[in-house]
Amino acid sequence: RAKKVSKSDYEFYSIELDQAAELRIAQEAAIVSGVKENEFIPYYQPVVNAQSYSLEKLEMLARWHHKGVLQSPDSFINIAEEANLIEKVSNQLLNQAFSDFSGWIKKMPTLILSVNISVLQLVEPKFVKAFTTFLKEYSIPPNNIEIEITESSLVSNIEAMKQTLFEVQQCGIKVAIDDFGTGYSSLSYLKYLNFDTIKVDQKFVAELTQGRTKGELAIVIVNMAKSLHVNCVAEGVETAEQATKLAQAGCQQLQGYYFSRPKSAQDIDPIIKVDQSISQSRTIG
Ligand code: C2E
Ligand code: MG
Ligand code: MG
Ligand code: MG
Repeated sequence: RAKKVSKSDYEFYSIELDQAAELRIAQEAAIVSGVKENEFIPYYQPVVNAQSYSLEKLEMLARWHHKGVLQSPDSFINIAEEANLIEKVSNQLLNQAFSDFSGWIKKMPTLILSVNISVLQLVEPKFVKAFTTFLKEYSIPPNNIEIEITESSLVSNIEAMKQTLFEVQQCGIKVAIDDFGTGYSSLSYLKYLNFDTIKVDQKFVAELTQGRTKGELAIVIVNMAKSLHVNCVAEGVETAEQATKLAQAGCQQLQGYYFSRPKSAQDIDPIIKVDQSISQSRTIG
């Protein structure tokens, strides 16, 4: 039975709503000033070859240097999206990331930079032109870039996404579906949208070593990627056992704390090594 609502309930709710609205306004203002003050900085997490453990890719992960603390994207990406500020935040991050990366590919021309892009940005008609112009400014070949889109964000935008992803891939940029297995999208999306990479969500990777033998979904996803001839990355790899199981199943690339935490550009710098092929041709030449 419905509870009788009294006047004091209304007052209580309206105070709560006021507080929530005030907090939101303050958070938005902080993001605006954060953009102005250059507080958004890219961190990078290595993605390694599952057989050799050598570096093949870096995923750029947003960080916000705010009030002396390094904030994680979970605390500001949603707010930035809802306040229509995500493009500003993303541009600040990409500017720095492309600048860092343009130096790294001089040493390692095969290195890939993976960037998370919000669906709100991808459905903007001007996205592809703006993004590729940006790459040109930094002399970064589109082949060195991969865009990650979370599976959960695809569902409501499938038609608009098809066109954008087609254009993105026409330019040579690769496209990954992120957090795969958690977004309730239909499996037929995997054929309808033509992904280059599937990223197994870390939840399934964790389950590999939680002692439950019933259905190792990470392995199911790896096998599915294999039959679709799509590159597969497992995220959230924290133990040697997980890494071995995934590699044995045929997962091509691994990412997680077992290999490296996300790091600042300064800390990534020393792990960027001159490609073997290039150093050899240099010694020969
Ligand atoms: P994601 O793209 O799925 O990134 C992987 C997340 O897992 C990162 O969290 C990473 O730090 C964390 N992680 C990596 N290895 C491990 C591990 O071994 N164990 C555990 N427990 N966690 C691990 P982070 O950096 O907090 O990012 C959270 C999410 O925020 C990202 O998830 C991505 O969806 C979003 N995001 C990050 N940067 C951006 C950005 O520039 N733009 C947009 N639109 N979204 C972003
Ligand atoms: Mg990602
Ligand atoms: Mg992910
Ligand atoms: Mg995620």
